[in-house]
Amino acid sequence: MSKKGIFWFTTDLRLDDNQALNYAASQVDQLILVYCPDDCERLTSFQTGQCISNNRQRFLNQSLADLQKNLQTLNQHLIICERPKQYLGQIIDNYAITHIFRSGGQHCLNSASWELLKAQYSSVNFTEVSGNRLFDAQQLPFELSQLPSSFSKFRRKTEKLEVQPPQSATNKLPPPIIDCIAWPTTYLLSDNNDQVDFVGGQTAANKHLENYFHTSKASTYKETRNGLDGMDYSTKFSPWLALGCISVRRIIQRLKRYESEIIANDSTYWIYFELLWREYFQWYAEHHGVKMTAFSGIKERVPTTSFYPERFQKWCQGTTPYPIVNACMKQLNTTGYMSNRGRQLVASCFVHELSLDWRYGAAYMEQQLIDFDLGSNWGNWQYLAGVGADPRGHRQFDLNKQTQIYDPQEQFIQRWQGQFNSLPLDSTDPSDWPISSEIPA
Ligand SMILES: Cc1cc2nc3c(=O)[nH]c(=O)nc-3n(C[C@H](O)[C@H](O)[C@H](O)COP(=O)(O)OP(=O)(O)OC[C@H]3O[C@@H](n4cnc5c(N)ncnc54)[C@H](O)[C@@H]3O)c2cc1C
Repeated sequence: MSKKGIFWFTTDLRLDDNQALNYAASQVDQLILVYCPDDCERLTSFQTGQCISNNRQRFLNQSLADLQKNLQTLNQHLIICERPKQYLGQIIDNYAITHIFRSGGQHCLNSASWELLKAQYSSVNFTEVSGNRLFDAQQLPFELSQLPSSFSKFRRKTEKLEVQPPQSATNKLPPPIIDCIAWPTTYLLSDNNDQVDFVGGQTAANKHLENYFHTSKASTYKETRNGLDGMDYSTKFSPWLALGCISVRRIIQRLKRYESEIIANDSTYWIYFELLWREYFQWYAEHHGVKMTAFSGIKERVPTTSFYPERFQKWCQGTTPYPIVNACMKQLNTTGYMSNRGRQLVASCFVHELSLDWRYGAAYMEQQLIDFDLGSNWGNWQYLAGVGADPRGHRQFDLNKQTQIYDPQEQFIQRWQGQFNSLPLDSTDPSDWPISSEIPA
């Protein structure tokens, strides 16, 4: 009997070093390739007003269009389906599918359709192959249930492990099932945004990787990485990593080449160190599952913060009394990207100065960030809100001091018009009752 498979693309929108796709290609005679956009029920329930931002959507569309183009060179094509459970169910029934594959990884919040299909089609072989990580589960020197409680402990146990070399892109895929209709590529075309420096897709990712290591930026990364603005102070790998347009093992391979050909120093090590942070949060999300979005995070106690619609709105729009925070938020809203330093400051302000429930801030960033990654976003928010992996409990940044250090001339604040907003944080009526305000669209 001929073996017919579905390969379900998720955050692995590439052909290069796509272990799950390579495996799928080796197992079946015919293959249907699908991508299912996340449903955004969870996001809208956090008052974010819309599903994903235009910047995120554009980057995703570009990545899918690039994948589609690359697949066409292998006589294959991608199909987009909105409601995976129903749509894939129909495909399984209509085409007598025998196998379904996907990359393993951060599916804990979007796994319902996979699990439901698995339960419904017990005769179909469901396989997950390791995702976009430095290490395979078998390489970890601990069971996932024993994941170290802090990054430092995790780093000490893993940093000397060998990162396996990336696999080459497949040059042959099983043919599609003939009468399945491909998703029209024109659907993927979207408007441009001149203020955005990122173009989605494997092609742009590879170009960026090469450009980055053709300069000497990696040699000074540790000194520059806390910058706030521009493309040069940090690697900017995150948007492509988030959608899997590039594999983290490919980055490590290129980093090692730079170290052997140019220089190996504290800065080049620090790029690896930061990728280990990413690695930690990948396993952290897999281990903690739905606790990622719980108010108490992975701790037992609930924070004392709450939800104030007007404060939330001001933070989202960048009209708080804190110029550095405003500038960062306006940068995020315009470009879909914010520096790591900026993210720490706006999250600290959200939790401490504004006393807001951290989950709303995390959800807003999930909506806006073109590099949104479940583990890194929700894990970092938990860390800063004191309900995650920070052994110190929580961190509050002194916003004035941080401004003096990272934006002493206030050029960043001026560029992004973060000027001080003198209006009170909370509006009240004459009887001092809070006036609710609209949630930003
Ligand atoms: C509140 C908050 C939310 C965040 N949300 C995300 C997110 O949704 N997606 C995301 O990729 N990163 C997130 N980060 C981590 C970090 O800010 C970004 O990875 C980084 O700014 C991306 O820019 P870069 O690629 O130039 O990073 P670089 O400084 O060049 O670092 C290289 C790579 O290391 C990884 N990395 C660096 N810092 C971290 C970190 N603190 N945690 C995890 N991985 C890290 C990223 O993969 C990054 O691409 C968040 C941080 C905070 C404080």
